[in-house]
Amino acid sequence: MARRNKIYEGKAKILYEGPEPGTLVQYFKDDATAYNAEKTAIIDGKGVLNNRLSEFFMTGLNNIGVPTHFLKRLNMREQLVRACEIIPLEIIVRNYAAGSISKRLGIDEGTALPRPIVEYCYKDDALGDPLVSEEHIAAFGWASQQDMEDVLSLALRVNDFMSGVMMAVGIRLVDFKIEVGRVYDNDFQRLIVADEISPDSCRLWDTKTGQKLDKDVFRRDLGSISDAYTEVARRLGVIPNNVASVGKPTLIN
Ligand code: C5P
Repeated sequence: MARRNKIYEGKAKILYEGPEPGTLVQYFKDDATAYNAEKTAIIDGKGVLNNRLSEFFMTGLNNIGVPTHFLKRLNMREQLVRACEIIPLEIIVRNYAAGSISKRLGIDEGTALPRPIVEYCYKDDALGDPLVSEEHIAAFGWASQQDMEDVLSLALRVNDFMSGVMMAVGIRLVDFKIEVGRVYDNDFQRLIVADEISPDSCRLWDTKTGQKLDKDVFRRDLGSISDAYTEVARRLGVIPNNVASVGKPTLIN
């Protein structure tokens, strides 16, 4: 059997050449990293859960007309996605203060923001993904003015969708990060949501208790990250209700 062509390996995922031109296979690893990979661990089953959760969110977005790279899930750890040219930005949407905005602006974590705030970070691990303004983005040519209008619209639509889905299962969407890529359909360029949407890239707090159900559990040593992600997947109906933890990934293929 021919060996697959690896296109890119990141901290939590690997991209392989897909079966048809314009497609890629996205493989979800069990690796967890935080603070720009200063803290690392292998979390059994995390890749399986994030594959299913990202499928769930991206399919929901596709269904309401928010275009994403997701085509179909292939197996427990892999999904077929559309290849795209990633805009080198991390697009962060915040509904409540937490994490870096709390530190930067001295706002208590959990404070409701007056309206959703969208921030852009330049995707560069060596620099620690620094916060940048639209001036930097335009001046350095990372994205055009039209791209940025589309990025903002995509980010806010993802926020509306994700906030609603989460609220329905008793979870507050505090903030999240997305990545956006360009695809070309004949002569036209359009932008789609790419990468992943999972508890690795969102802050999710239980509405009643405030319990954290996202990667902060790992970043801040707050308990079992696989229990937290399993709880999110269970509430969303992505895995059966009677699965206590995803120690045995075969349970949820
Ligand atoms: O660290 P910060 O508060 O800026 O993170 C905001 C949101 O973006 C969090 O949900 C975090 O998980 C996500 N994020 C991410 N990848 C990064 C930086 C932030 O998924 N490189």
